[in-house]
Amino acid sequence: MSQSNLNSTKEKLIAERETLSRKLSRNDLSVDASETPDPVDLAVRNYSKNVMLAVSENESRQVVLINEALTRIADDEYGTCQNCEKEINPKRLDAVPWARYCLSCQELVEQNLLDED
Ligand SMILES: [Zn+2]
Repeated sequence: MSQSNLNSTKEKLIAERETLSRKLSRNDLSVDASETPDPVDLAVRNYSKNVMLAVSENESRQVVLINEALTRIADDEYGTCQNCEKEINPKRLDAVPWARYCLSCQELVEQNLLDED
């Protein structure tokens, strides 16, 4: 991958990471303990809390992937599949700049056939 492409990928990753951390910091999960909400209210609140937690988990995970991708750029390893070490399709990287694996290895990951470290 050319240096100018790498630079724009890096910018894209950093911008994406900023968006995610803003989202994550907005997810304030604290519940005011001084309130005594009725059970229905509480159930709704717990539900949305779970949804928010699930979302946060995804987003936190993505931040990790983005950080890894930035490290790979710094180490000159970007664009290489972390499993088979083949080059990841540039179109895939364009759509998913933080991709760790090539498409075939990603399929293995999704079927739990690959041990992720
Ligand atoms: Zn691969």
